Amino acid sequence: MCNEPSTNGQNGVANGVSNGNGADKKPRSVPYKAIGDYLSNTGRFKIIESTLREGEQFASAFFDTATKVKIATALSDFGVDYIELTSPAASPQSKADCETICKLGLKAKILTHVRCTMEDARLAVETGVDGVDVVIGTSSFLREFSHGKDMAYITKSAIEVIEFVKSKGLEIRFSSEDSFRSDFVDLLALYKAVDEAGVDRVGIADTVGCASPRTVYELIRTLRGVISQKTDIETHFHNDTGCAIANAFVALEAGATHVDTSVLGIGERNGITPLGGFLARMIVEDRDYVLSKYKLQKLKEIEDMVAEAVEVNVPFNNYVTGFCSFTHKAGIHAKAILNNPSTYEILNPADFGMTRYVHFASRITGWNAIKSRVEQLGLKMTDEQVKALTAKIKELADIRPLAIDDTDAIIRSFHLDLADK
Ligand SMILES: [Zn+2]
Repeated sequence: MCNEPSTNGQNGVANGVSNGNGADKKPRSVPYKAIGDYLSNTGRFKIIESTLREGEQFASAFFDTATKVKIATALSDFGVDYIELTSPAASPQSKADCETICKLGLKAKILTHVRCTMEDARLAVETGVDGVDVVIGTSSFLREFSHGKDMAYITKSAIEVIEFVKSKGLEIRFSSEDSFRSDFVDLLALYKAVDEAGVDRVGIADTVGCASPRTVYELIRTLRGVISQKTDIETHFHNDTGCAIANAFVALEAGATHVDTSVLGIGERNGITPLGGFLARMIVEDRDYVLSKYKLQKLKEIEDMVAEAVEVNVPFNNYVTGFCSFTHKAGIHAKAILNNPSTYEILNPADFGMTRYVHFASRITGWNAIKSRVEQLGLKMTDEQVKALTAKIKELADIRPLAIDDTDAIIRSFHLDLADK
């Protein structure tokens, strides 16, 4: 559906050229971008937001109906393309919540994620969803220790479910589970069969977080060549070994069209590709596309909402919204940042409604940072005086940690002393 030849390559070249000092306009330009990569969908991907499905599998998650409605509404306003919900087969309340969210009339399409059985598919289509995501385990582990079905049986039941959901006029995705530990030849044969049966989207899932970017690129690129061009490819990456964002990114480069995310990455075990981190990656790649689709300034609000709902703190080193994401501390960094933020920032905090902070109360501060603080406090000093003041602050900061208030007090008293002289 979104596989017409790419124009990304041309953008890449244009954007690869330095934007001069346009730090607050286009903070990008990775000079190593491939030219004319016709497979790549990094400039036209879609997000399937799974906080209300994958995220419900997070250790401390419990979403009541009101919370689900609030999160779904916020995600739809944010601009995600799809919202995926827990299977109506999971519990009577899950089914009721699914129906409630379908009735909200959100801009995002609503999906539910069910096992690849007629029983689950029937339940799913009754809820009012726009599409059904079906999944079945294809790895030897799952075939032996989970459902005990062979590939011929899996293919037959997949086709039956696909034809049924299509007959109801709904979108259908077919995904294998634990795709990267499944037999590759079996997998391609299965995907070719479901493609011929008219599936809208096939899904590749790194259920255990074992995949590395190179494996992902090769698998997706091969799959892209096997199924028809109109069929979309959805990807789902767990973060057990820290590759979830990188894997999602290379999957798009290899021709995938959809990426599963959750807010803060919450999910089974340590979770999946986080919405915020993924968009941080993508805005560097295609700023115009990301800004045209997603209301990034609402990211922090959504993250805070989900963090509160699942009773966790936003990690200190979280992408974009972590407390230190845009804090610059070292003296030489601070000087360059004050002159031109692009020097040490690939992301522009303003795009996300965040602000940068130049840390000045430490032993590794520099006189440019102190000078900037002096100006913020509305005081006047010569450069020589600021340098003397900086030496004094460093002397104290060598002995004990300095709070901002402390440092401001030192600056003010130094300024008073100057007036006395
Ligand atoms: Zn998952």
